Amino acid sequence: MSADSPTVDLARRLVQAPSPSTRERPAVDVLIAAFEAHGFDRAWIDEAGNAVGVIERGDGPTVMLNGHVDTVPLGDEAAWPHPPLSGDVVDGRLWGRGASDMKSSLACMTVAAAQAAERGFRGTLYVTGVVQEEIGGLGARHLGATIPVDAVVLGEPSKLQFKLGHRGRIEVDVHLPGRIAHAAKPELGENALLRAARFLQALDAAHLPAGGPLGASTATPTSLVSHPEGGRNVVPGEAVVTIDYRNLPDDPPEDVLARLQALDPDATLVVGDAERASESGEVRTTIPGVNPAYLAPGENAYVTRAREVLRRELPARGVAYAEGTWWFATDAPHLAQRGAVVLGFGPGEEEVAHTTRESVSVEHLEIATEVYRELALALLAGEPGA
Ligand SMILES: [Zn+2]
Repeated sequence: MSADSPTVDLARRLVQAPSPSTRERPAVDVLIAAFEAHGFDRAWIDEAGNAVGVIERGDGPTVMLNGHVDTVPLGDEAAWPHPPLSGDVVDGRLWGRGASDMKSSLACMTVAAAQAAERGFRGTLYVTGVVQEEIGGLGARHLGATIPVDAVVLGEPSKLQFKLGHRGRIEVDVHLPGRIAHAAKPELGENALLRAARFLQALDAAHLPAGGPLGASTATPTSLVSHPEGGRNVVPGEAVVTIDYRNLPDDPPEDVLARLQALDPDATLVVGDAERASESGEVRTTIPGVNPAYLAPGENAYVTRAREVLRRELPARGVAYAEGTWWFATDAPHLAQRGAVVLGFGPGEEEVAHTTRESVSVEHLEIATEVYRELALALLAGEPGA
């Protein structure tokens, strides 16, 4: 693929349009213009600020190719080997924030949808670029509630592997009590930091549920704060440990909280919600502290059909077929909220996402474009199983 192929050109222009979460409009505008340039029937920005493009060809299934347009911040710009907003192609890789996670997927999907329309299909094919994925998924929550679809191809980075889901995420603040005293007379108090230390050691030794395609639940302490803050000669009266808990579907939130509570019966557990609004203020939503797991159904015609396409198309392009699950959370549960089956496949590499080494193989963009086209055509080809 030459550096000026339609996919690489669009991927570069998306990377060059900065779009940190809640300020995605420049990249959304690039995507809308691309939908129009590629002959989509309609393209618009919805109430949440998502880019929506659609190709309508009468009765048939409704399929969506989806990704998020927002990115994490650029980080230390001096640490990047190539500037994060450059979209430079160097030694076969396109560089910049969002190159892997996941503007390139949206470029592949846009070109693939136009190619699928050229081939011809019956049904409805959406390409959507959603906002705020990195901070709770306001865009996908709104999209999943407002556009009913049968199947979604989600282009989060997967190195061209088939991904069937991921664990849930629960963010828990564990408040551990103590009693304030002068640090020179600690026996008069009760040190909340030492209590936190015992809690963390017990957590480290705890056995968490494991088994099945999603692996095992994990509990990672990510923050420790003591109160009064700055009280450097005070025995702290409270410590707050934040736990990033990734749960299997059969390790539900109530079990998770009971397990954490058992480590210290006097702890107070708080699962916080966050309030988010779209850039325009038209959509406001509460993002719960519990983000559900997603696992595609085992016996499902769309899953079977996607697997057939990938088993056929990837080896034909020199890529071994592999399937598994993502280790990170995605918009999948929000996109599936009305029953859609979500199928994961993307050209990006999850290991470089969010880092100053973010880049993507240009060859993989070419392969992903062709595979997205074949996936769309296969998923749109009449009622699965018929
Ligand atoms: Zn992502």
